[in-house]
Amino acid sequence: MQALQLFGDRDLRLTEVEPPPAPGPGEVQIRIRAVGLNFIDVWGFRGMAFAKRKLPLTVGAEAAGEIAALGAGVEGLEVGDMVVPYGAMTCGRCRACREGRDNLCEDVSGVMGFHLDGFGRELVNMPARLVVKAPPNVEAVQAACAGIAFGTVQHMLFDNARLEPGESILVHAGGSGIGTTAIKMAKAIGCTVYTTVGDDRKGEKARELGADHVVNYREERFEGEVRRLTKRKGVDVVFEHVGPETWNGSLLCLKRGGRLVTCGSTSGVSVQMNLMQLFQQQYRIFGSFGCRIANMRESLDKMATGLTPVIDTVLPLADFAQGLERLESRQVFGKIIVTI
Ligand SMILES: [Zn+2]
Repeated sequence: MQALQLFGDRDLRLTEVEPPPAPGPGEVQIRIRAVGLNFIDVWGFRGMAFAKRKLPLTVGAEAAGEIAALGAGVEGLEVGDMVVPYGAMTCGRCRACREGRDNLCEDVSGVMGFHLDGFGRELVNMPARLVVKAPPNVEAVQAACAGIAFGTVQHMLFDNARLEPGESILVHAGGSGIGTTAIKMAKAIGCTVYTTVGDDRKGEKARELGADHVVNYREERFEGEVRRLTKRKGVDVVFEHVGPETWNGSLLCLKRGGRLVTCGSTSGVSVQMNLMQLFQQQYRIFGSFGCRIANMRESLDKMATGLTPVIDTVLPLADFAQGLERLESRQVFGKIIVTI
């Protein structure tokens, strides 16, 4: 069967590999149909010194596919079901796993497509406990956004920042995969959404998704604009994933007692921040990585009721690298998906 493998920095090749054996007890075999591209793939593609991984590595951290075969003792899933696999190989035994806090597993063996072979291949075996069945009206290309884009945003907004109906939120990079998702999820519960974009064309599209106020961060200082629009009160929540370029401006946008939740730092990794401001303004800052398995289920349910992902492009597997280069250059609005 075919697999898309990383052989070195920026060296991706479509290769012929051995198909997996029949699924063992408690496992399912999935025929992968669609893989979502994410910034974690860009990090892996660029080569990250701290990541423990063995090359060649099959890429792909987020996917959807159909059950091709069932191992012994698997219940609640059938051959042909559309499913979404969880993106990390958790232990299933530690306290965090038992309590459904999967992304806090104390004995995780790694993230699929980053430390361990990922989903960019025709067939993959997974423990059935890490697989969620998609509702019947959710297509593979949409379901392929549940594992990271939707799951991460669901976890950030509702588990961590505890966003409430009627609150205000600033969503950075409103044209990104997670930015478009955050705008839609926040609007769906009646929040006022402010968003930043890098060009006016993306701004118009963000408005079409429901964003109430759009700031082109290349033309004006977003923190000044958000403070002006909120009559200097600030917003309840900031959705961060840009990092040093926006961090201190994001804090300035918060109300006293406001919450900042972050899942990424595409512009660098270190910031200097004012600790007086942090405690006097009683800000709450949440680091968020990945999601719980339950968040994938919640995401798929939202898709089934019409809150669908914004898809920028669908490409063949062989064009994965081209998709990553577009992600890197930020020339996207929504998600890039490859199909197999
Ligand atoms: Zn665990």
